[in-house]
Amino acid sequence: MPDILPFLNHEDIKRLISALAKRISTDYRDQDLVVIGILKGAFIFLSDLVRQLSIPVEIDFIGASSYGQNTHSSEKIRITKEIDIDILNKNVLIVEDIVDTGLTMVFLVEHLKSFSPKTVKICALLDKKERRKTDIHIDYVGQRVAGGFLVGYGLDYGEKYRNLPGIYRLKLSSSEEKL
Ligand code: 5GP
Repeated sequence: MPDILPFLNHEDIKRLISALAKRISTDYRDQDLVVIGILKGAFIFLSDLVRQLSIPVEIDFIGASSYGQNTHSSEKIRITKEIDIDILNKNVLIVEDIVDTGLTMVFLVEHLKSFSPKTVKICALLDKKERRKTDIHIDYVGQRVAGGFLVGYGLDYGEKYRNLPGIYRLKLSSSEEKL
């Protein structure tokens, strides 16, 4: 197993989520909202975020896969689970663990827009903005991250580490360090 170095502990994450939840609750006050988490990585973030919201929401998940068993974006994205809720004329908030190149998000926004929602906004706990290959705008960002590969709190490396309560930087060997 590769070494991991602490990046954000659970208290840090709680603070980021509390700030995000306040902004979202204010912005969508008196409006309908469907929160759509991107599987698998966002499942823990979404569950903590929605419990901090002071507004009623509907919750759904969409499955997207762009990474295989390693840390390199394949730039090929496929839907692995479709949404179940009808989002026609509804406000949609996509919840993602981390946005990197933005290719996954561009693909999912276009996909969700095909269901004719009223609005689509994006919330990401972490944002690797410097690595962006698209001009997608993230409406709610928990924290910007310079680079490296992060695991824990829903984020995996080869499907492992998702259950860690904090977020860690993976120490990759030089041959693996392509990020
Ligand atoms: P993008 O399409 O923006 O390049 O990649 C987005 C996806 O890559 C995210 O859904 C996330 O699952 C994965 N990803 C990007 N950076 C990291 C990272 O540092 N750690 C992990 N575990 N996944 C990442």
